Order: sequence, then structure tokens, then C-alpha cells
Amino acid sequence: MVDLIGQLEPIKAEIQEGFEEVMTNAAFVNGPKVHEFQADLEKYLDVKNVIPCANGTDALQIAMMGLGLQPGDEVITADFTFAATVEVIALLNLTPVLVDVEEDTFNISPEAIEKAITPKTKAIVPVHLFGHASNMEAIMEIANKHKLYVIEDNAQGIGSSYHYKDGSAQKTGVIGHVAATSFFPSKNLGCYGDGGAIFTNDDKLAHTIRGIVNHGMYERYHHDVVGVNSRLDALQAVVLKAKLPKLDDYNAKRQMAARAYTKVLKHHEDIETPVARTNRPCENKDLGICDTCSCHVFHQYTLKIKNGKRDGLAEYLKSQNIPHGIYYPIPLHLQKAYKDDRYDDKDFKVTNSLAEEVLSLPMHTELDEEQIKFISGHILKYLDEGPTN
Ligand SMILES: *Cc1c(COP(=O)(O)O)cnc(C)c1O
Repeated sequence: MVDLIGQLEPIKAEIQEGFEEVMTNAAFVNGPKVHEFQADLEKYLDVKNVIPCANGTDALQIAMMGLGLQPGDEVITADFTFAATVEVIALLNLTPVLVDVEEDTFNISPEAIEKAITPKTKAIVPVHLFGHASNMEAIMEIANKHKLYVIEDNAQGIGSSYHYKDGSAQKTGVIGHVAATSFFPSKNLGCYGDGGAIFTNDDKLAHTIRGIVNHGMYERYHHDVVGVNSRLDALQAVVLKAKLPKLDDYNAKRQMAARAYTKVLKHHEDIETPVARTNRPCENKDLGICDTCSCHVFHQYTLKIKNGKRDGLAEYLKSQNIPHGIYYPIPLHLQKAYKDDRYDDKDFKVTNSLAEEVLSLPMHTELDEEQIKFISGHILKYLDEGPTN
């Protein structure tokens, strides 16, 4: 699904040099390399505070702790996301409220959010799923109206932008009150192990969070709040610092691969190709993928395979050794850990059907035309000729 080896060559010397420096200085956790990367990322995102931490799941949890959410507070999030999003809500004894997503973007539905709001609602967690910016304009409007916090799960969306109706744009992760991201190796900006970060423009919240990641310490051995141990390793910061200047290029390569897949697959009756919805007029509209902006950075390239053919196609791809993924096969409201009597399955029409239709294809920065033709060719062959061939 991903090729992390091809990406290494152009940055190998810089990374080796950085590793040497860390080994020589023996500042393995936090330290100068982490601070340098933090400053670079603040500049890239145009955000006042980046707080590095150990992984994306921690980043989400710490963001919620920083906001002072209390047991029993309701937090609305998407039914169709990686479990980490809802896991941390439950871990903090907050009440997760899962809602349906939009049919075309797979992102949380503003209408569904609005319907789920109660007097106990305190926060909304939009996930920029598969690298596609959620409808932040509508979400912020709802949040402002009901005085709710917005915590962006930007683990799959780093480098993407949300384009407002007035023509302006902002990077995902700096629009809500606070955001969390992951530097897991397969993410769009990945390190060589685990890593994560929290972003916020709120200096006071940033101060609170800087203490929480370090055992609730604001002054050495004074523990003012209950914190956690969540830090970024200097070796990971070296990798991230080398990769960050290339992030826009990496994402452009993903978009190019997405357009190449879509060109071949778009017209088949059993296939719906992904749509990048933007408020910006864009070129290549016929492909449903913007050419000139980054509203979708394709962490995943995900098709809908209609007419009950998804599982057969997945079997066929497996038999041909073509990597593919089903993200996500079970909506969260049906998972044992997150079942809740308050949910009515009828309210999850979209996530229920997505779980049966989605199929993600290999997506990374090193895909070439030939690989894309090969993969798409096999998909069309199966759909046209059926399982017997
Ligand atoms: C990867 C991911 C996370 C968790 O990140 P880790 O670094 O693996 O803990 C959270 N949310 C989403 C949507 C993700 O894709």
C-alpha cells in the first residue's frame, strides 16, 4: 500500500547527518532537533503553537485533557474513522456521540452534528478523512452557535487546505480550537517510528498542554495537573525536519496518482471515484479532483465499488497480489467497544453502506503510471469479466 524506501534516497544524507548529531549530543528525547522541527512546522502551518508528542492518539487525548473536558461531557465525532478518534473520548470518560458522514466526501455531516447536539455537548471532532478537508465552514458555524470546542483530527490530513466560500484558504489543523496529528510512518508526513503533535493558536491552551505532555509539570517537580508522558524522540524529529520541506511535493505526487487512477476508473458503472469537494473553482473538474489546490491530499485513494461487487473484487486483487485495503470494514457504532443503546442503526445509512463498498488502492509518493495502469487494469478486468476469469 505504501513505498517508504523510494522516498528515502533524496533525504538519506541529511537524515544520517542528523542522526550522527543526535548520537553525539545524546539529547534523545525533546532537545534542539525537536525544537527546530516544531518551529518549522509552526511556520509551515501558520499556527502559533505546535506541541510535539509521542503519537497521534496521545495528541487527541491530550488536546481533550487540555480543554478541560469533564466526565459525562458529550463529544460528537464521525462514525466512519479510525478507532483512535473515539477511543480517547471513551478513555477520558467523556461520552462519544457518533454521527453519520457525507455520502460523497466520507467526512462528518454538519446536519448530523446539528441533530446530535444536546445540553451536554461540549466538543466536535471532525476527522479530515483520507486527507480530505471536512466542511470546516459549516462545522465552525455550528460550534460558534452552540459554544462548542472543535478538535480537528488531522492525522490523515496534514498539508491539506480548506477553501472558504469567500476565496480564502487555511490549512487543516489550524481552523478549530486545537488539532491533533500523527507522524506514523504511513501518514502523509511520517517518521521512522511513532510521533505526533498538537496544534493551537490559543497560547493559554498551548501552555496547559505543554505541561500535560510532561507529567503535569509547569515548574520542575511541581505537578499542578494530572498529566501524561508523551514526547517526541529527537531521531524522529530529524526525519520529520528533513521531510517537511517536501510535504507539498509528496502531496502533489499523491494527487497526480489519484488523477491517474480516476482517469481510468471513472466511467465504469460499478465504480464511484473519490470526489474532492471544494469551494474553489478548479481545473480538472471532470475528474472530481482539484488540480490546483490541496483540499484533498489523498492519504488514501478510496473507491466505492457498487452492486455488491466489493468483496469479490478484493478477493481477486488478493489472488493477483495487488495490495488493497478496506478502511473501514465496520462502522464504529457497531463495534463492541462503542455500542450504545442511544444509537439507531437507521441514522447511520451512509457509514453502513460505505463499510460494504469502500476499497482503497495503493497510494504513496512513488507510484508510477505503469503501476497505476496495471492495478486499474485488473480492477476493470474483474468487474467486466467476473470471478470465473
Ligand atoms: C493514524 C490515526 C490516528 C492515530 O495516530 P497514531 O499515531 O497511530 O496514534 C488518529 N486518527 C486518525 C484518523 C488516524 O488515521
